[in-house]
Amino acid sequence: MQEQYPFDVDAIRADFPILDRKVGGDVTTPGEGPNDTQDLVYLDNAATSQTPDQVVDTIADYYRSYNSNVHRGIHQVSQEASVAYEEAHDCVAEFIGAEGREEIVFTKNTTEAENLVAYAWGLNELGPEDSVVLTEMEHHSSLVTWQQIGKRTGADVRYIEVQEDGTLDMDHAAEVIDETTEMVSVVHVSNALGTINPVRELADMAHEEDAYVFVDGAQSVPTRPVDVDDLGADFLAFSGHKMCGPTGIGALYGREEILDAMEPYLYGGEMIRRVTYEDSTWEDLPWKFEAGTPSIAQGVAFAEAIDYLDDIGMENVRAHEDLLAEYAYEQLSDLGGIEIYGPSGDERGGLVAFNVEGVHAHDLSSILNDYGIAIRAGDHCTQPLHDKLGAAASARASFYIYNTVEEVDALVDAVAEAKELFA
Ligand code: PMP
Repeated sequence: MQEQYPFDVDAIRADFPILDRKVGGDVTTPGEGPNDTQDLVYLDNAATSQTPDQVVDTIADYYRSYNSNVHRGIHQVSQEASVAYEEAHDCVAEFIGAEGREEIVFTKNTTEAENLVAYAWGLNELGPEDSVVLTEMEHHSSLVTWQQIGKRTGADVRYIEVQEDGTLDMDHAAEVIDETTEMVSVVHVSNALGTINPVRELADMAHEEDAYVFVDGAQSVPTRPVDVDDLGADFLAFSGHKMCGPTGIGALYGREEILDAMEPYLYGGEMIRRVTYEDSTWEDLPWKFEAGTPSIAQGVAFAEAIDYLDDIGMENVRAHEDLLAEYAYEQLSDLGGIEIYGPSGDERGGLVAFNVEGVHAHDLSSILNDYGIAIRAGDHCTQPLHDKLGAAASARASFYIYNTVEEVDALVDAVAEAKELFA
């Protein structure tokens, strides 16, 4: 089977010891379930990916060798930490084609990056005469955030419709993006439908109206080459934990001139230049937006995760995702009695959300858990979209660099068993 993959998947798997563990469906102390006999088949990568030894070692090395606060110290260890943390910004910048570290703000995750722009830009710039355009498939991190900013500023929040086939209605996009529009916020790859949205086309429409474009790259940056210029993105957000990095670190890309003009989001230490009792001035970008002691180890490890993915090559990562998603789509379709959401197998990101006729997604997930198969069941933080689909929940299998065709087979076999059980 190995020869069908774009890279050596066995070698990759060896970097992820968790993939060798057994599970048994019992929730007990981590790693100590009494029935831990099944191989773990981890297909919940859209929620969070696993972390290779190289990244875990980077975190341990940081704490063992040069743990210190950044920016403030003259002493050697602080300077070592500062250099590593600052260079991590360069690494992220290069990965997505940004100009430099000025354009990369480290955040906790995608959600915080969305909130940063919504608060620092949206609250100050939007009013009742303006509109913000989202899509009906936005993740709650964007949808709820702009909804609330809309309520506070009076700006109209509009949604580009999702069609039957899970793609955006671009005629509707052309209608709702108009001269009142100040921001178009779009998810690049939908975490619920797997749809790959035509971001460039939307960006061109938005820029025609002098609106900014915010791209939610939570599912795209980990899984395919992403370049901010190619996308036409003014902002791009993504999370380290979905791309082999640790939790607690993510990035906001913003075009330098826009970030420069924006007010800070959080105030405090690290982000100021000069403070008097009367007033304060701000540090240069990106530090103006990184108040307080940042997630230093996580930032450095984020860069290590990016190096790890770079070594595989993002084109190869995409090819692997395509292969598994297409195969899973085909195999699940062949079972019959299964509704798969979103576009067809060859036009989607590396995830498949579905429902088995007559089986609640939670029950399905629970049965799969008995087989050691980890998937997600729920609304995947897209409740309005699930309302529209007429489904309270769906089951979602999502793939990453270490997953195999055999694991997709295990998924499909277990789904078939569940179908039988509930027939
Ligand atoms: N957007 C999308 C498309 C996502 O899939 C997710 C994570 N499920 C998020 C935003 C939020 O990411 P985080 O929880 O890391 O902030």
